[in-house]
Amino acid sequence: MILPIIAYGDPVLRKMAKDITSEYPKLDELITNMWETMYNAHGVGLAAPQVGLPIRLFLVDTTPFSDDEELSKEDQEALKGFKKVFINAKIEEEVGTAWDFNEGCLSIPDIREDVKRKPEITISYLDENFNPHTETYDGLLARVIQHEYDHIQGVLFTDKLSSLKKRLLKSRLEKISKGKIAVDYKMRFPNIKKGR
Ligand SMILES: [Zn+2]
Repeated sequence: MILPIIAYGDPVLRKMAKDITSEYPKLDELITNMWETMYNAHGVGLAAPQVGLPIRLFLVDTTPFSDDEELSKEDQEALKGFKKVFINAKIEEEVGTAWDFNEGCLSIPDIREDVKRKPEITISYLDENFNPHTETYDGLLARVIQHEYDHIQGVLFTDKLSSLKKRLLKSRLEKISKGKIAVDYKMRFPNIKKGR
C-alpha cells in the first residue's frame, strides 16, 4: 500500500526518532509499504518519519544511481542492487574532507541543493531480521545513508545550507508545507487549510 509522504513543515520530521524492538506492531507490513511508497515516488531512500512514524527505521535502494555514466564501473556496481533496511541505526564515525553533492528529498519536492558531507561513514544497525551489523561505506552509498540517517535524527538537508540559501528558500518551503506544489505522488501537508 502506498502511504502519503509527509511534507516539509510537519513536526514529525523534527523529532528525534525512537528505537524499536522486533515486537513493533506489523513491522513487516510497514517495511513492505515503505518500499512501495519509495519506488512509487522514484526515491532512493525513505525514513519512517516521512510516513509519519517517529521510529528509527529507514530504507535505501541506490539502484537508480547505478545508471550514472559519470561514475566508474566499480561505483556503478556498488550502487546496483544495494537494497537495505536499517533499524535502530547509529553512525559511529564520519571521516574525510566534506564534499558537495546535489541532494533532494521526497518530503521537500522540487528543491535540490548542494550539501556538504564527509565521504566515509561507519554505521551500526539491525537489519529487518534484527541481526546486528557494523559496516563502513563511502561515496554515494554513504551519502544516501547520511541523508536518511538525518531523518531519524530530526534533521533535513535544508538545515545544512548557508543562512543566505535558507532565506532564499523560505517562501518556497512555506508553499510546500501548505500543499501549494505540483507533485506526482501522494503527500500529506501540515499547513493545508481545512473546512472548505
Ligand atoms: Zn529526505
